[in-house]
Amino acid sequence: MPFAWLHHDPVASGPMTFTTATHAGSDPYVPGHGDASYDVLHCGLTLDYQLIGNRLEGAATLLCRALSAIDAIRLDLHALVAEQVLVDGRPEEFTHHAGKLVVEHVVEAGAEFEVRLTYAGSPRPVPSKTLGSAGFEELTDGVMVAAQPHGAPSWYPCNDRPDNKATYSIAVTAPSDYHVAVAGELVTTARSGTTTTWSFQQDAPMPTYLATLQIGRYAVTEQKGAPVPVRTIAPAERDAHDFAASFGRQAEMLGFFVKVYGDYPFTSYTAVVTDEHLEIPLESQGLSTFGRNFISDDWNEIRLVAHEISHQWFGNAVTLRKWKDIWLHEGFACYSEWLWSQESGVAPTQAWVDHHHDRLANLPQDLLLGDPGPELMFDDRVYKRGALTVHALRVRVGDDTFFEILRTWVVAHNGANITTEMFIAHANQVAGEDLSDLFDAWLFSRELPALPSL
Ligand SMILES: [Zn+2]
Repeated sequence: MPFAWLHHDPVASGPMTFTTATHAGSDPYVPGHGDASYDVLHCGLTLDYQLIGNRLEGAATLLCRALSAIDAIRLDLHALVAEQVLVDGRPEEFTHHAGKLVVEHVVEAGAEFEVRLTYAGSPRPVPSKTLGSAGFEELTDGVMVAAQPHGAPSWYPCNDRPDNKATYSIAVTAPSDYHVAVAGELVTTARSGTTTTWSFQQDAPMPTYLATLQIGRYAVTEQKGAPVPVRTIAPAERDAHDFAASFGRQAEMLGFFVKVYGDYPFTSYTAVVTDEHLEIPLESQGLSTFGRNFISDDWNEIRLVAHEISHQWFGNAVTLRKWKDIWLHEGFACYSEWLWSQESGVAPTQAWVDHHHDRLANLPQDLLLGDPGPELMFDDRVYKRGALTVHALRVRVGDDTFFEILRTWVVAHNGANITTEMFIAHANQVAGEDLSDLFDAWLFSRELPALPSL
């Protein structure tokens, strides 16, 4: 079932165990993934996918730079079988165990090198005891990739850490009666026999988990009125009223967020609506993935259409370095729902603030928002307390300063990675006051602070 990672049972999974070998830079929330000793600068992928039999054949070209002297190149690649590895054009021996492909190869600090790799197999999600499974998913009639936080190695070899942003070129060959979308701009399509090759370019730096691949029988709807192209790729058969109420308002939503958060960080926005029920949507770079249950006139679904658009600023343009800072994504995206609620006349922002503060006050207060742990990183309390933290900041500094903090935050770190400490320093600087008491209470204490009012 898609999004199995949402349905894991943190109690049954027991204490976190580090069974995978870790090394410098590995995030304790996603142990074993990523290598801090080098960066991928550009990732070129050429993929051929057969839906019948779930067969992927891939070639990857990774332009890399060593950040320190290294004696081995470590890549993350799950379940798929590497066939040949070339480093700077020369074939190399390699080992590939437990999702880690290791090439013994010496590189001086600062030097650039190129890894070319061919691989094949039947892609499947990457499992995790604490996080559930994530990544490549077969749908009833198509595929999707929902990679947050550890699923990227399910479909391509990568340095799987969120603070290694790279540019991408991705070409996908699939049967011609399917639509292909990835996190990037479509450059060309070329039909050959019964297949079509779709070539995409992602020129904005992108972390591994925000790359995605979507294949399905979809129709494209362009939505006018936003500063950038906005489109929905969805099953052609759908309820027109429900579609208009949710995805039909995306250009308006995006325009509203431009007004409050500043320029849209990417060149377009695409919502992919798969032809099945998905419990939650998920953001990728310039693209979000939904189940068809989000074609709805119910606020509980509409709010998440807005939520995913706002992630383009908070999470995608400006991305955490470490997963413990997930509130910097989800708190801001959840608060964006409440802003859109007021803007669209559903309910004032303050009503959601009051409602969710009351709810949280009656739930266990054992969550540390500034470091919730991998078991709770996608707990609803991270979203709601995160949004309340954003609201508390707004009440403290006033609207003008608050929106100035957010706009300048995105401008200063667009395309880069950030930490909670950086956000606090930024807010202090823009506000011209020491806000550490506020952040200490909301982020680094478990007890729910009292609700500030506007
Ligand atoms: Zn979110």
